[in-house]
Amino acid sequence: MISRRKTRLVQVGNVGVGGDAPISVQSMVNTLTTDINQTVSQIHRLEEAGCSIVRVTVPDKASAKALPAILKRISIPLVADIHFDYHLALMAVDAGVQKIRINPGNIGTGERIREVLRACESAKIPIRIGVNSGSLEREIMEKYGEPTVQGMVESGEKHLKICYDYGFEDVIVALKSSNVSMMIEANRLFAEKYDVPLHLGVTEAGPKGSGSIKSAVGIGTLLAEGIGDTLRVSLSSDPLEEVKAGYQILKALGFQRQGVNLISCPTCGRMSFDLVRIASEIEARTSHIKEAINVAIMGCVVNGPGEAREADIGIAGLGKGKARLYIHGIARDIITEKDIIPRVLDEIDQLINDEIR
Ligand code: SF4
Repeated sequence: MISRRKTRLVQVGNVGVGGDAPISVQSMVNTLTTDINQTVSQIHRLEEAGCSIVRVTVPDKASAKALPAILKRISIPLVADIHFDYHLALMAVDAGVQKIRINPGNIGTGERIREVLRACESAKIPIRIGVNSGSLEREIMEKYGEPTVQGMVESGEKHLKICYDYGFEDVIVALKSSNVSMMIEANRLFAEKYDVPLHLGVTEAGPKGSGSIKSAVGIGTLLAEGIGDTLRVSLSSDPLEEVKAGYQILKALGFQRQGVNLISCPTCGRMSFDLVRIASEIEARTSHIKEAINVAIMGCVVNGPGEAREADIGIAGLGKGKARLYIHGIARDIITEKDIIPRVLDEIDQLINDEIR
Protein backbone atom coordinates (compact mmCIF):
# COMPACT_ATOMS: atom_id res chain seq x y z
CA MET A 1 0.00 0.00 0.00
CA ILE A 2 1.28 3.43 -0.95
CA SER A 3 1.71 5.71 2.03
CA ARG A 4 0.42 9.21 1.43
CA ARG A 5 2.24 12.44 2.24
CA LYS A 6 0.74 14.10 5.30
CA THR A 7 -1.17 17.23 4.36
CA ARG A 8 -3.56 19.53 6.16
CA LEU A 9 -7.22 18.67 5.85
CA VAL A 10 -9.28 21.24 3.96
CA GLN A 11 -13.04 20.89 3.87
CA VAL A 12 -14.85 21.49 0.57
CA GLY A 13 -18.47 21.32 1.67
CA ASN A 14 -18.91 17.74 2.91
CA VAL A 15 -15.81 16.48 1.06
CA GLY A 16 -12.48 16.47 2.85
CA VAL A 17 -9.35 17.14 0.80
CA GLY A 18 -5.99 16.24 2.35
CA GLY A 19 -5.34 14.71 5.75
CA ASP A 20 -6.70 11.17 5.85
CA ALA A 21 -9.59 11.92 3.48
CA PRO A 22 -9.81 9.62 0.45
CA ILE A 23 -8.42 11.03 -2.79
CA SER A 24 -11.39 12.65 -4.52
CA VAL A 25 -12.17 12.82 -8.23
CA GLN A 26 -13.32 16.16 -9.62
CA SER A 27 -14.51 17.43 -12.95
CA MET A 28 -15.65 20.64 -14.58
CA VAL A 29 -18.88 21.05 -16.51
CA ASN A 30 -18.68 22.32 -20.08
CA THR A 31 -22.12 23.90 -20.30
CA LEU A 32 -22.81 27.62 -20.11
CA THR A 33 -23.20 28.37 -16.41
CA THR A 34 -26.12 30.61 -17.29
CA ASP A 35 -27.91 27.61 -18.79
CA ILE A 36 -29.05 26.36 -15.42
CA ASN A 37 -30.97 23.31 -16.63
CA GLN A 38 -28.14 22.00 -18.79
CA THR A 39 -25.59 22.68 -16.07
CA VAL A 40 -27.62 20.95 -13.37
CA SER A 41 -28.32 17.98 -15.61
CA GLN A 42 -24.63 17.56 -16.43
CA ILE A 43 -23.73 17.84 -12.75
CA HIS A 44 -26.27 15.12 -11.94
CA ARG A 45 -24.67 12.83 -14.53
CA LEU A 46 -21.22 13.52 -13.10
CA GLU A 47 -22.43 12.90 -9.58
CA GLU A 48 -23.96 9.61 -10.68
CA ALA A 49 -20.56 8.62 -12.11
CA GLY A 50 -18.87 9.31 -8.77
CA CYS A 51 -17.66 12.89 -9.21
CA SER A 52 -17.04 14.27 -5.70
CA ILE A 53 -16.51 17.97 -6.43
CA VAL A 54 -17.60 19.87 -9.53
CA ARG A 55 -16.44 23.18 -10.96
CA VAL A 56 -18.26 25.71 -13.09
CA THR A 57 -16.81 28.70 -14.84
CA VAL A 58 -17.91 32.12 -13.65
CA PRO A 59 -16.75 34.52 -16.34
CA ASP A 60 -19.41 37.22 -15.80
CA LYS A 61 -22.13 38.52 -13.53
CA ALA A 62 -24.87 36.54 -15.28
CA SER A 63 -23.00 33.32 -14.46
CA ALA A 64 -22.50 34.37 -10.84
CA LYS A 65 -26.22 35.12 -10.62
CA ALA A 66 -27.03 31.59 -11.85
CA LEU A 67 -25.09 29.97 -8.98
CA PRO A 68 -27.81 30.02 -6.27
CA ALA A 69 -30.29 28.25 -8.58
CA ILE A 70 -27.69 25.63 -9.49
CA LEU A 71 -26.70 25.10 -5.87
CA LYS A 72 -30.31 24.50 -4.87
CA ARG A 73 -30.58 21.54 -7.25
CA ILE A 74 -27.30 19.68 -6.67
CA SER A 75 -25.80 17.83 -3.76
CA ILE A 76 -22.05 17.70 -4.46
CA PRO A 77 -19.80 20.67 -3.59
CA LEU A 78 -19.67 23.36 -6.25
CA VAL A 79 -16.49 25.30 -7.09
CA ALA A 80 -16.62 28.66 -8.85
CA ASP A 81 -13.79 29.19 -11.30
CA ILE A 82 -12.84 32.88 -11.27
CA HIS A 83 -10.19 34.77 -13.11
CA PHE A 84 -9.18 38.36 -12.30
CA ASP A 85 -12.55 39.84 -11.24
CA TYR A 86 -12.83 39.98 -7.46
CA HIS A 87 -16.49 41.12 -7.67
CA LEU A 88 -17.36 37.74 -9.19
CA ALA A 89 -15.50 35.98 -6.40
CA LEU A 90 -17.53 37.89 -3.81
CA MET A 91 -20.77 37.10 -5.64
CA ALA A 92 -19.87 33.40 -5.80
CA VAL A 93 -19.06 33.25 -2.09
CA ASP A 94 -22.32 35.05 -1.36
CA ALA A 95 -24.20 32.54 -3.53
CA GLY A 96 -22.97 29.74 -1.26
CA VAL A 97 -20.40 27.88 -3.39
CA GLN A 98 -18.23 25.48 -1.40
CA LYS A 99 -14.88 26.63 -2.86
CA ILE A 100 -13.52 29.24 -5.21
CA ARG A 101 -10.69 28.72 -7.62
CA ILE A 102 -8.85 31.99 -7.86
CA ASN A 103 -5.28 33.23 -7.77
CA PRO A 104 -5.21 36.02 -5.18
CA GLY A 105 -2.18 37.65 -6.81
CA ASN A 106 -4.20 38.25 -9.99
CA ILE A 107 -7.10 40.24 -8.57
CA GLY A 108 -5.43 43.58 -7.99
CA THR A 109 -4.83 45.63 -4.89
CA GLY A 110 -4.35 44.47 -1.33
CA GLU A 111 -7.81 45.64 -0.28
CA ARG A 112 -9.52 43.56 -2.98
CA ILE A 113 -7.55 40.51 -1.94
CA ARG A 114 -8.40 41.08 1.71
CA GLU A 115 -12.08 41.43 0.83
CA VAL A 116 -12.13 38.08 -0.96
CA LEU A 117 -10.16 36.31 1.78
CA ARG A 118 -12.39 37.85 4.45
CA ALA A 119 -15.49 36.65 2.59
CA CYS A 120 -14.10 33.10 2.26
CA GLU A 121 -13.07 33.12 5.89
CA SER A 122 -16.49 34.09 7.14
CA ALA A 123 -18.24 31.66 4.75
CA LYS A 124 -15.72 28.99 5.91
CA ILE A 125 -14.86 27.98 2.39
CA PRO A 126 -11.43 27.26 0.92
CA ILE A 127 -9.62 28.73 -2.04
CA ARG A 128 -7.88 26.70 -4.68
CA ILE A 129 -4.86 28.36 -6.16
CA GLY A 130 -4.46 27.17 -9.73
CA VAL A 131 -1.07 27.59 -11.38
CA ASN A 132 -0.96 26.75 -15.07
CA SER A 133 2.41 26.68 -16.85
CA GLY A 134 0.70 28.24 -19.87
CA SER A 135 -0.37 31.37 -18.01
CA LEU A 136 2.43 32.20 -15.60
CA GLU A 137 2.69 35.83 -14.45
CA ARG A 138 4.67 38.24 -16.59
CA GLU A 139 7.41 38.76 -13.98
CA ILE A 140 7.98 35.00 -13.72
CA MET A 141 8.11 34.63 -17.50
CA GLU A 142 10.59 37.53 -17.67
CA LYS A 143 12.74 35.92 -15.00
CA TYR A 144 12.86 32.45 -16.59
CA GLY A 145 12.18 33.28 -20.25
CA GLU A 146 9.81 30.31 -20.59
CA PRO A 147 7.56 28.15 -18.39
CA THR A 148 9.75 26.20 -15.95
CA VAL A 149 9.26 24.00 -12.91
CA GLN A 150 10.83 26.66 -10.70
CA GLY A 151 8.58 29.34 -12.21
CA MET A 152 5.46 27.26 -11.53
CA VAL A 153 6.48 26.68 -7.93
CA GLU A 154 7.29 30.36 -7.43
CA SER A 155 3.92 31.34 -8.81
CA GLY A 156 2.16 28.96 -6.41
CA GLU A 157 4.28 30.28 -3.53
CA LYS A 158 3.44 33.87 -4.38
CA HIS A 159 -0.32 33.28 -4.18
CA LEU A 160 0.03 31.05 -1.14
CA LYS A 161 2.07 33.70 0.71
CA ILE A 162 -0.69 36.26 0.12
CA CYS A 163 -3.17 33.91 1.82
CA TYR A 164 -0.79 33.00 4.66
CA ASP A 165 0.17 36.65 5.29
CA TYR A 166 -3.52 37.38 5.78
CA GLY A 167 -3.81 34.38 8.08
CA PHE A 168 -5.95 32.36 5.66
CA GLU A 169 -4.85 28.73 5.55
CA ASP A 170 -7.78 26.96 3.95
CA VAL A 171 -5.94 26.57 0.69
CA ILE A 172 -5.54 23.84 -1.90
CA VAL A 173 -2.90 24.25 -4.62
CA ALA A 174 -2.80 22.93 -8.17
CA LEU A 175 0.31 23.11 -10.33
CA LYS A 176 -0.79 22.03 -13.78
CA SER A 177 0.94 21.84 -17.12
CA SER A 178 0.29 20.14 -20.43
CA ASN A 179 3.94 19.08 -20.16
CA VAL A 180 3.72 15.92 -18.06
CA SER A 181 7.27 15.93 -16.68
CA MET A 182 7.03 19.62 -15.78
CA MET A 183 3.80 18.97 -13.90
CA ILE A 184 5.38 16.04 -12.05
CA GLU A 185 8.51 17.96 -11.08
CA ALA A 186 6.63 21.08 -9.99
CA ASN A 187 4.36 19.08 -7.68
CA ARG A 188 7.29 17.13 -6.24
CA LEU A 189 9.14 20.34 -5.45
CA PHE A 190 6.08 22.02 -3.96
CA ALA A 191 5.24 18.93 -1.87
CA GLU A 192 8.74 18.98 -0.34
CA LYS A 193 8.16 22.50 0.96
CA TYR A 194 4.50 22.73 1.99
CA ASP A 195 1.88 20.58 3.66
CA VAL A 196 -0.89 22.16 1.55
CA PRO A 197 -3.23 19.61 -0.06
CA LEU A 198 -2.48 19.23 -3.75
CA HIS A 199 -5.02 19.02 -6.57
CA LEU A 200 -3.36 17.07 -9.40
CA GLY A 201 -3.95 17.38 -13.10
CA VAL A 202 -2.26 17.40 -16.48
CA THR A 203 -3.96 20.33 -18.09
CA GLU A 204 -5.08 20.42 -21.73
CA ALA A 205 -4.19 16.73 -21.85
CA GLY A 206 -6.05 16.20 -25.15
CA PRO A 207 -8.81 13.88 -26.37
CA LYS A 208 -10.00 10.88 -24.37
CA GLY A 209 -7.41 8.27 -25.46
CA SER A 210 -4.15 10.19 -25.42
CA GLY A 211 -5.36 12.56 -22.69
CA SER A 212 -6.16 9.70 -20.34
CA ILE A 213 -2.72 8.19 -20.88
CA LYS A 214 -0.92 11.50 -20.26
CA SER A 215 -3.03 12.06 -17.16
CA ALA A 216 -2.42 8.55 -15.89
CA VAL A 217 1.33 9.04 -16.27
CA GLY A 218 1.39 12.50 -14.63
CA ILE A 219 -1.18 12.00 -11.91
CA GLY A 220 -0.31 8.33 -11.40
CA THR A 221 3.42 8.97 -10.95
CA LEU A 222 2.74 11.51 -8.21
CA LEU A 223 0.09 9.42 -6.48
CA ALA A 224 2.46 6.44 -6.49
CA GLU A 225 4.91 8.64 -4.58
CA GLY A 226 2.22 9.54 -2.06
CA ILE A 227 1.71 13.05 -3.48
CA GLY A 228 -1.79 14.32 -4.26
CA ASP A 229 -5.08 14.68 -2.42
CA THR A 230 -7.62 15.26 -5.17
CA LEU A 231 -7.49 15.09 -8.96
CA ARG A 232 -9.04 16.11 -12.19
CA VAL A 233 -8.35 14.43 -15.51
CA SER A 234 -8.72 17.21 -18.11
CA LEU A 235 -9.99 15.83 -21.41
CA SER A 236 -11.34 17.31 -24.62
CA SER A 237 -14.33 15.05 -24.19
CA ASP A 238 -17.54 14.53 -22.24
CA PRO A 239 -16.66 15.42 -18.60
CA LEU A 240 -18.06 12.03 -17.64
CA GLU A 241 -14.97 10.50 -19.25
CA GLU A 242 -12.82 12.60 -16.91
CA VAL A 243 -14.47 11.02 -13.90
CA LYS A 244 -14.17 7.51 -15.33
CA ALA A 245 -10.48 8.05 -16.11
CA GLY A 246 -9.89 9.53 -12.65
CA TYR A 247 -11.31 6.43 -11.00
CA GLN A 248 -9.31 4.14 -13.27
CA ILE A 249 -6.12 5.86 -12.09
CA LEU A 250 -7.12 5.49 -8.44
CA LYS A 251 -8.13 1.87 -8.95
CA ALA A 252 -4.85 1.03 -10.68
CA LEU A 253 -2.94 2.23 -7.62
CA GLY A 254 -5.25 0.60 -5.09
CA PHE A 255 -6.60 3.92 -3.77
CA GLN A 256 -10.12 3.12 -4.89
CA ARG A 257 -11.73 -0.22 -4.36
CA GLN A 258 -15.22 0.65 -5.48
CA GLY A 259 -16.72 -0.75 -8.65
CA VAL A 260 -15.89 -3.66 -10.90
CA ASN A 261 -12.17 -4.08 -11.43
CA LEU A 262 -11.85 -5.93 -14.71
CA ILE A 263 -8.76 -8.04 -15.25
CA SER A 264 -8.53 -9.32 -18.81
CA CYS A 265 -5.67 -10.75 -20.78
CA PRO A 266 -4.06 -8.90 -23.71
CA THR A 267 -5.18 -11.73 -26.06
CA CYS A 268 -3.06 -13.82 -28.37
CA GLY A 269 -3.44 -16.73 -30.76
CA ARG A 270 -4.26 -19.10 -27.89
CA MET A 271 -7.47 -17.22 -27.09
CA SER A 272 -10.42 -19.57 -27.29
CA PHE A 273 -13.35 -17.11 -27.47
CA ASP A 274 -14.03 -13.52 -28.54
CA LEU A 275 -12.42 -12.07 -25.44
CA VAL A 276 -12.15 -8.47 -26.68
CA ARG A 277 -15.89 -8.17 -27.28
CA ILE A 278 -16.83 -10.03 -24.11
CA ALA A 279 -14.51 -8.06 -21.81
CA SER A 280 -15.61 -4.71 -23.32
CA GLU A 281 -19.28 -5.59 -22.97
CA ILE A 282 -18.89 -6.73 -19.37
CA GLU A 283 -16.99 -3.53 -18.56
CA ALA A 284 -19.67 -1.35 -20.17
CA ARG A 285 -22.56 -3.20 -18.53
CA THR A 286 -21.03 -3.05 -15.05
CA SER A 287 -19.77 0.54 -15.06
CA HIS A 288 -22.66 1.66 -12.80
CA ILE A 289 -21.82 -0.84 -10.04
CA LYS A 290 -20.44 0.68 -6.86
CA GLU A 291 -19.53 -2.55 -4.99
CA ALA A 292 -15.88 -3.62 -5.17
CA ILE A 293 -15.74 -6.80 -7.27
CA ASN A 294 -12.76 -8.27 -9.13
CA VAL A 295 -13.70 -9.97 -12.40
CA ALA A 296 -11.10 -11.78 -14.52
CA ILE A 297 -11.73 -12.69 -18.15
CA MET A 298 -8.83 -14.76 -19.46
CA GLY A 299 -8.41 -16.33 -22.88
CA CYS A 300 -6.78 -19.70 -22.18
CA VAL A 301 -5.25 -22.07 -19.66
CA VAL A 302 -1.78 -20.49 -19.70
CA ASN A 303 -2.42 -17.64 -17.26
CA GLY A 304 -6.19 -18.03 -17.12
CA PRO A 305 -6.83 -20.33 -14.14
CA GLY A 306 -4.37 -18.43 -11.91
CA GLU A 307 -5.93 -15.02 -12.53
CA ALA A 308 -9.48 -16.40 -12.56
CA ARG A 309 -8.94 -18.04 -9.17
CA GLU A 310 -7.59 -14.82 -7.64
CA ALA A 311 -10.68 -12.86 -8.73
CA ASP A 312 -14.15 -12.89 -7.16
CA ILE A 313 -15.51 -14.11 -10.49
CA GLY A 314 -13.20 -15.56 -13.09
CA ILE A 315 -13.41 -17.00 -16.57
CA ALA A 316 -10.58 -19.00 -18.13
CA GLY A 317 -10.78 -20.24 -21.71
CA LEU A 318 -10.47 -23.99 -22.25
CA GLY A 319 -10.43 -24.04 -26.06
CA LYS A 320 -13.12 -24.73 -28.65
CA GLY A 321 -15.35 -21.87 -27.45
CA LYS A 322 -15.57 -23.21 -23.91
CA ALA A 323 -14.48 -21.67 -20.63
CA ARG A 324 -14.31 -22.55 -16.96
CA LEU A 325 -16.09 -20.36 -14.45
CA TYR A 326 -14.45 -19.69 -11.05
CA ILE A 327 -16.22 -18.17 -8.07
CA HIS A 328 -14.05 -17.02 -5.19
CA GLY A 329 -11.23 -19.26 -6.33
CA ILE A 330 -13.33 -22.41 -6.74
CA ALA A 331 -13.63 -24.03 -10.16
CA ARG A 332 -17.29 -24.30 -11.14
CA ASP A 333 -19.14 -25.09 -14.38
CA ILE A 334 -17.76 -25.24 -17.89
CA ILE A 335 -19.75 -22.79 -20.01
CA THR A 336 -19.96 -21.97 -23.69
CA GLU A 337 -18.94 -18.64 -25.23
CA LYS A 338 -22.50 -17.37 -25.64
CA ASP A 339 -23.20 -17.89 -21.93
CA ILE A 340 -20.14 -16.05 -20.61
CA ILE A 341 -21.65 -12.53 -20.51
CA PRO A 342 -25.05 -13.46 -19.02
CA ARG A 343 -23.47 -15.83 -16.52
CA VAL A 344 -20.84 -13.34 -15.34
CA LEU A 345 -23.50 -10.61 -14.99
CA ASP A 346 -25.72 -13.03 -13.05
CA GLU A 347 -22.89 -13.99 -10.72
CA ILE A 348 -22.10 -10.29 -10.13
CA ASP A 349 -25.75 -9.66 -9.21
CA GLN A 350 -25.75 -12.62 -6.88
CA LEU A 351 -22.57 -11.47 -5.17
CA ILE A 352 -24.05 -8.02 -4.62
CA ASN A 353 -27.29 -9.49 -3.26
CA ASP A 354 -25.36 -11.81 -0.92
CA GLU A 355 -23.38 -8.84 0.39
CA ILE A 356 -26.53 -6.79 0.94
CA ARG A 357 -28.29 -9.59 2.83
S1 SF4 B 1 -4.23 -15.79 -21.13
FE1 SF4 B 1 -3.90 -17.14 -22.87
S2 SF4 B 1 -5.01 -16.13 -24.55
FE2 SF4 B 1 -4.73 -14.60 -22.98
S3 SF4 B 1 -2.82 -13.60 -23.62
FE3 SF4 B 1 -2.31 -15.15 -22.08
S4 SF4 B 1 -1.73 -16.90 -23.32
FE4 SF4 B 1 -2.88 -15.52 -24.68
